[in-house]
Amino acid sequence: MLRMPEFEVHRPSTAADAVRLRSQLPDAMYVAGGTDLLPNLKHHLHAPKHLVSLARVEGLSGILRAGDGTLRLGATTSLHAIATDEVLRAEVPGLAKAASLVAGPQHRRMGTIGGNVLLDTRCLFYNQSLPWRRALGSCLKSEGTWCHVIGSDKSCVAAQSSDTVPMLVALDASIEVTLPDGSTETIALAGLWTKDGRFERNRNLPPEALLTAVVIPPRAAGHRSTYRKVRARQAIDFPQVGVAVAAGFDGDRLSSLAVVVGAMLPHPKRLDHDDVAGRPLDDALVEHVAERAYKQVRPQPQVHGDPGWRRELARVETRRALRELLPG
Ligand SMILES: Cc1cc2nc3c(=O)[nH]c(=O)nc-3n(C[C@H](O)[C@H](O)[C@H](O)COP(=O)(O)OP(=O)(O)OC[C@H]3O[C@@H](n4cnc5c(N)ncnc54)[C@H](O)[C@@H]3O)c2cc1C
Ligand code: SF4
Repeated sequence: MLRMPEFEVHRPSTAADAVRLRSQLPDAMYVAGGTDLLPNLKHHLHAPKHLVSLARVEGLSGILRAGDGTLRLGATTSLHAIATDEVLRAEVPGLAKAASLVAGPQHRRMGTIGGNVLLDTRCLFYNQSLPWRRALGSCLKSEGTWCHVIGSDKSCVAAQSSDTVPMLVALDASIEVTLPDGSTETIALAGLWTKDGRFERNRNLPPEALLTAVVIPPRAAGHRSTYRKVRARQAIDFPQVGVAVAAGFDGDRLSSLAVVVGAMLPHPKRLDHDDVAGRPLDDALVEHVAERAYKQVRPQPQVHGDPGWRRELARVETRRALRELLPG
């Protein structure tokens, strides 16, 4: 049986109190829906003495659309709400789709967008019980000193495995955070993650920072977006490959294109490709971008599925995602 370690739960009602508690209490962590954190606690990956619950913090939940088209998603808005909201489905269909593909229905009702953005990186050698990990001498990200995936004592390549993150990066989203000194800051998501998959080293953010909202800027004219995911079990599973595409269209010509691949590295990978402005999304362009996906991703055996197969799937799913954007 996987037993939960003992901890005390605190339920602040303001963001300022939440940050203060998280900063002042020793060994504290935030918990939102708990669908990532609680399994990790059962696996003894963390042993906090205090959990600061965000469930009762006022003003953290809800979806707002400003007059200029900016979308503001409160951090504790459920993934179910994001997947089913009519405005989001119409204006950022790729995000609603990505949220609808996270885990299973119960997880999406409990799980929040803030928790999905700050989901801990995942690895076959890490997301295991304590006896399982100890049998192997543990690893660099947990209690050990060696990465079993790349054979190094320096680097961890656990995968950024959130489904909404590639889509949010493709949409040029940012996050609003409250920092330990009480100040607030807006940070572009594209620059949030580091190349190190270890907990808390994985992001350019103090551990006490509270994510209060995800902000999506106005989309390009003729916006179309989609997300494609490959997973071992269709009913409930983390991505083995995730591809997010956001494009602007002027008639049948592209004005912009962003393609972001997830679940390969400790950070989402935004593809470099040729300038697309004024070009139609024809077979030649689809093949060019799909080829760029194959060339630019470097999957490691840190999640299920042969890395060569996942690399090929990055190409195939990029091609399929781009074709989904074609009219009709
Ligand atoms: C069986 C199973 C399958 C899953 N499949 C998927 C999947 O396919 N795709 C996927 O993306 N996820 C998956 N998940 C993970 C999880 O359900 C989602 O990522 C969910 O969105 C996490 O949100 P949460 O609110 O439950 O986060 P929590 O578990 O509450 O928190 C996650 C982390 O973020 C921190 N945190 C949460 N909110 C904030 C905040 N506002 N400010 C600062 N820190 C914060 C917590 O301290 C914790 O470290 C799965 C989980 C399970 C158990
Ligand atoms: S990538 Fe290496 S260090 Fe990171 S969790 Fe996996 S085995 Fe551990």
